[in-house]
Amino acid sequence: MLIYPPNNHQTTSSNIFFIGSARNFCTIQNNSVALFENGNFAHTLNLNLGVNPIDINIDGENFTREIIVSASPTLSPLAYAYPYPYYANQESQDRYSLESIIVRPNRIDFHSGNIKPEIFILNPQTLILKASDNLKNNLNWIHYRDETYKLINIVPKSQDEYQINFALPCSFQELKQSKIENSKFWSCDYSPQDNNIVPTNIIHSNNIPKTHIICLDPGHGGSQSGTVSPQGLQEKTLNLQFAQLLAQKLQDNNINCFLTRNEDQEISLAERVEQAKLNSATMFISIHHNALPDGRDPILEQGISTHYYHENARLLASQLLENLTSLTSLKSAGLYRQDLFVLRELPNIPSVLIELGFLIHPTESEIISSIEFQEQASEAILRLILAIHHEE
Ligand SMILES: [Zn+2]
Repeated sequence: MLIYPPNNHQTTSSNIFFIGSARNFCTIQNNSVALFENGNFAHTLNLNLGVNPIDINIDGENFTREIIVSASPTLSPLAYAYPYPYYANQESQDRYSLESIIVRPNRIDFHSGNIKPEIFILNPQTLILKASDNLKNNLNWIHYRDETYKLINIVPKSQDEYQINFALPCSFQELKQSKIENSKFWSCDYSPQDNNIVPTNIIHSNNIPKTHIICLDPGHGGSQSGTVSPQGLQEKTLNLQFAQLLAQKLQDNNINCFLTRNEDQEISLAERVEQAKLNSATMFISIHHNALPDGRDPILEQGISTHYYHENARLLASQLLENLTSLTSLKSAGLYRQDLFVLRELPNIPSVLIELGFLIHPTESEIISSIEFQEQASEAILRLILAIHHEE
């Protein structure tokens, strides 16, 4: 059974992985594909620009998959940011939080016309920014990949034009050293009327109320199956199974919780966020199982990752990652700051998304779909929530 890629798959990647399973053998372009003990495979093949007809034979059944490769876009985001509506004051739509900056290899954009600096140009190691004094004075960090880094300095170039120096691009090591530490503020409130930017303090996760209401969000559902394991197990099913197990454990320990879906049903991201708000959730945990974009190595990449967007969720995300990797056999695949809807749209409570291992991985898929792993992982999350509960 071939799980990925689908026929007529379009990509900009120069290679693609084939995920699936076989009883006896699999050949791709007449080359024998290595099968894992469980029959699963993850085979990477180089592609040419245009249509790539790929001949596949699984256990004697022949078929062709066409993969269409188009030229990759010249701009790929290295980091991102934009002024972002400040949801804490929903009644005042004219307030914005300045959350981060979008950096691309050749230029930088602000995704809003409301904040004055609109055009940024990136030199190899600098940014030229047309900015008001207010904005310039409040830019002191940049988000790059999964980390936040401090500015080195800002040098005036001309009226309303400043050169902003980051340690970028350089080795990842160097970037890590320039990481911002214990910043006094994370975001800025911005009011277009008076063009005023006011730094706001970081809200820590331990400021959450004493009575916890945990919103568990099993990702995908209905026609949105999410990713699929080499043997055909759909992510939406595993997400729900795990979330229900965790919910039971929380309830057994007298922790209030509810699920955004309790069956195989399609719900939008906005509805998930709405449910958390309507039920006054104090914490939002979205449950997912991971896959990879085209061009990555499906055998090398393994482990659990946690994702947050607002700084008030960072501590929870890192503690969840630590508990999950110490109480299960899976390693860490990292802590990421990511602009995901369910994380971004819940700025007032810690909102974290967990990827409980790679469902496309030939062997990890088997581990993470086992009851044993799910017991360990749900126990790891339960213990952390209980620990937070007892701290307060
Ligand atoms: Zn998912």
